Amino acid sequence: MGGCNSTETTPNNPSSEPSPKASQSQSDMASSEYVTQSMAAKDPKHDPFFDLIMDDDLAKNQWPKQLTSHQEEGKKGKDVSLMGKVMTPELFNKLKDIKTKTAGWTIARAMNTGTCYQSSFVGCHAGDPESYEIFKELFHPVIEKYHVGYKLDGSMKHITDMDPDKLTVALKDEAKAKVFSSRIRVARNLNFFPLNPGGTVETRNQIADLMSKVFDSFKDSDTYSDLAGTFHRHTEMTPEETQELVDGHFLFRGKDKMQAASGYHRFWPKGRGIFLNKSKTFVVWVNEGDHLRIISMEQGGDIKSVFTRLSRAIKAMEEGVKKVTGRESVFASDPALGVITCCPSNLGTAMRGSVHIGVPTIASALGLAEIDKMARTINCQARGSSGEHSAIVDRVDISNWRRLGFTEYSLVQDLIRGANLLSALEDKFVSKEADASNVDQVLAQLMSDVTIAGK
Ligand code: ADP
Ligand code: MG
Repeated sequence: MGGCNSTETTPNNPSSEPSPKASQSQSDMASSEYVTQSMAAKDPKHDPFFDLIMDDDLAKNQWPKQLTSHQEEGKKGKDVSLMGKVMTPELFNKLKDIKTKTAGWTIARAMNTGTCYQSSFVGCHAGDPESYEIFKELFHPVIEKYHVGYKLDGSMKHITDMDPDKLTVALKDEAKAKVFSSRIRVARNLNFFPLNPGGTVETRNQIADLMSKVFDSFKDSDTYSDLAGTFHRHTEMTPEETQELVDGHFLFRGKDKMQAASGYHRFWPKGRGIFLNKSKTFVVWVNEGDHLRIISMEQGGDIKSVFTRLSRAIKAMEEGVKKVTGRESVFASDPALGVITCCPSNLGTAMRGSVHIGVPTIASALGLAEIDKMARTINCQARGSSGEHSAIVDRVDISNWRRLGFTEYSLVQDLIRGANLLSALEDKFVSKEADASNVDQVLAQLMSDVTIAGK
């Protein structure tokens, strides 16, 4: 898978490598080094929003009783994570003593999020690219459940196509008028480091140092000079500067319990940073969860322009890392899984394209959960005004839901259709042709429009 091996050496940049010692200390980390949920409950200095807090049983490498109770409640209709739907005590016992080579990743670490948090949707994470192969008895069924229709039986390959000229649907004028901003991001992970949940403070710092050199290289580039800008490290920003970037929708917040339970936020804020070009239309997150989130964004609804810039930005980043490290292949990928990411939900394109759209009437009449449910029927997802796990304040974030087994341009089309749907429904509510009582009927009518439902 993806040729990932943390101890591989690079001829011209040894300083950006994870040292064998770093991998070793991670793989030898005894469960006593983790804070457990019962320890954290007694000591407020452990912050569940940032620290890695393990389920008590998993910390002892035992089947978690907590998961049994989620599974029991699942039988009565309560939500269970995809991990919880797949894991059994038998499977746990079969996998519990395996450690991956790169990160020393274990099944206990992989399943901690969904064990600690019943409402987690996916509930498991990879600590290195080979986790997907070594723990495939967990990951493959989870991937097939999330990426509905995709089969990991060897019959399917993920293909990529970022050609903006292949887009055949466009935002309608009425939708465009409601759009505040458009953003498309992809995740990328370097194939010569562990994924961040399995990484150390050293690997995170080494990645940030490497990226700093890559960003600097844009300054002298004839091709990518519009992408040049400034890299801000979290350890060097004031709290006010950080907050301003978060409020402007440029920067990640951290502070997510479920992600913290995977180890995403360990050693916060070390090794984290954000790069912004001068016009703040090309942004790179460093070590939020994945090593890199490459983002193209701008005000307004010109999605094609955002997609075109993203396509160039990915190339610029890939060429930059190759140049600085002297490596031929730099991003972790796999023929069947596509781009490798820490969370199985992002595999494939690792792409989420969204618009922030102002639809206040349906937002108050239907609410986020209902809008999200509608969005799912056309392969989209709705989030709140500040991203995942946030509420609607003044705008809805509508984006593609699928990632694996579809080309990037077809997923951008999903997003466009989703935005056209919310806009058309908002107009029907404003004109009072629709309300909460006849919304299903109105939706069915709107689905006859090809710019909403597709073929
Ligand atoms: P992801 O993990 O897919 O990048 P999140 O839901 O974590 O997305 O959101 C990350 C940040 O990006 C949040 O601040 C969110 O408000 C912002 N964001 C998402 N879509 C847009 C958009 N279309 N325009 C501006 N900001 C956006
Ligand atoms: Mg996110």
